[in-house]
Amino acid sequence: MTQRTLVLLKPDAVRRSLVGEIVGRIERKAGWTISALELRRLDRATLEQHYAEHVGRPFYEPLVEFMLSGPVVALVVEGERVIEGVRQLAGPTDPIAAAPGSIRGDYGVIVRENLIHASDSEESAERELKIFFPGLV
Ligand code: ADP
Ligand code: MG
Repeated sequence: MTQRTLVLLKPDAVRRSLVGEIVGRIERKAGWTISALELRRLDRATLEQHYAEHVGRPFYEPLVEFMLSGPVVALVVEGERVIEGVRQLAGPTDPIAAAPGSIRGDYGVIVRENLIHASDSEESAERELKIFFPGLV
């Protein structure tokens, strides 16, 4: 089942020079391909679309401020079961609950600054890819 997913390396990952480390873990996974990769600054409108499900929650505003605090690296990754697969590599949202060996478990401490976003389902992937890579065929 070949899929495509949206991955964002959050501003903490870029600031802490963890881009190579995190991209390397994704890149080394058998049969997965990085088909787009770009350093970019996001804006509020993009984040409001991206995090639409969280608008109004107490953590939403600080999350947006954090995501605006520096550039992110946006990637499209394709391959076999890549949606579930990148979520597994990332680990659970709370880095302290994330097992060592996962990206969040190895490098994160606080919930907001958890290094990586990865689409959580086929529907989310399709929706998010349209937001970040509208030109994708
Ligand atoms: P995930 O990124 O694992 O899919 P969610 O979709 O639940 O997690 O939340 C989106 C992002 O919002 C998280 O990755 C994290 O950066 C932030 N976040 C989620 N819950 C909290 C919280 N309780 N406190 C602070 N930040 C949070
Ligand atoms: Mg989510």
